[in-house]
Amino acid sequence: MPSDFVNTLILWYNSNCRSLPWRESRDPYRIWISEIMLQQTRVSAVCGYYERFLAALPDMESLAACPEDQLLKLWEGLGYYSRARNLQKAARIVVENYGGKMPCDASELIKLPGIGEYTAGAIASIAFGKPEPAIDGNVIRVTSRLRAYTGETRSMKFKKELASWLRAENSREDASWGTLNQAFMDLGSMVCLANKSPLCEECPIRSYCEAFKKGIQNSVPVRAEKKGRRVEDRTVVLYTDGERFAIRRRPDKGLLSGLYEFPNYKGKLEPGEMLLAAREDGMYAVRLRKLPDSKHIFSHIEWHMTGYEILISRNDSEEGRFIFAGKDRINKEYPIPSAFAAYANAIGIKVGKNERWSYENPDSGDSVL
Ligand code: SF4
Repeated sequence: MPSDFVNTLILWYNSNCRSLPWRESRDPYRIWISEIMLQQTRVSAVCGYYERFLAALPDMESLAACPEDQLLKLWEGLGYYSRARNLQKAARIVVENYGGKMPCDASELIKLPGIGEYTAGAIASIAFGKPEPAIDGNVIRVTSRLRAYTGETRSMKFKKELASWLRAENSREDASWGTLNQAFMDLGSMVCLANKSPLCEECPIRSYCEAFKKGIQNSVPVRAEKKGRRVEDRTVVLYTDGERFAIRRRPDKGLLSGLYEFPNYKGKLEPGEMLLAAREDGMYAVRLRKLPDSKHIFSHIEWHMTGYEILISRNDSEEGRFIFAGKDRINKEYPIPSAFAAYANAIGIKVGKNERWSYENPDSGDSVL
């Protein structure tokens, strides 16, 4: 039998759950796509991407067959692009080995690229009604508070112990797990908040919560100290012939691998240094204009960027080093990561949410040449 807090939480969910596009379907493909998009990304940011992705790639076969640039373009702005690549690798395996149908057991799902314990539990329970917990940050936070647990919460050992505790609290071997897992997600997003005080007065399971009883809900779970990020200065340049802009493909391995970027250089280059770098790249500058600085934060690195726009009269760069393309073509064909959003937006390419500047004709504006 489920414990009282499980029953109360499920009842609360049934009348308070968020209306989200992926909840309108039990299609495992759709649930899988939503779960991968939601990793490290806010629900509000995912909704638009989710609809667009499924309109373009509505099923396993279309995802498996999608050209990589198109796939990354659909993912552009969501970040963590290995998620998109793993989706496609997994889709190809599902098409080849499972006749295009997702396996229903968590033990099979977890063998697919990009699917870990949490995602396997979420797909198995929500799409297939399997009795599997799905332990994410929300579950860890809510249950740590429920139990007034002050130990570490990052290790696999802790997660295994938590899974056993949850199975003891909900001993039903039925589809209640899909509801319970989503109830934790919603309670964690709407009431038992991360990075803010939990809204205990509105909480349906307050009477079962040990942290609330002890008044320690703001300090549980105990946070592990975060490692600092490395700061890197970079200089980004928009080379333009007046109509088209230079972009290039990033290497196949490492940060933002395989995506397209505006040329950029290590360090914070002064205008004179920038012109020298441009010349070494075979670009004949006729005008240089400073663009605003920008910053992008990855999980482990911060890029502090300074930017220039350089109008060129001639391009003698090594063949294949740059692609010159108009902004419509860049918009349609080339995935630009949101790290470059500020500079992409400066020329009217919509990447991410930063729309601080508008583009001015390169033939106008201040010149430092
Ligand atoms: S009572 Fe407060 S701390 Fe406890 S589960 Fe509810 S919102 Fe979280």
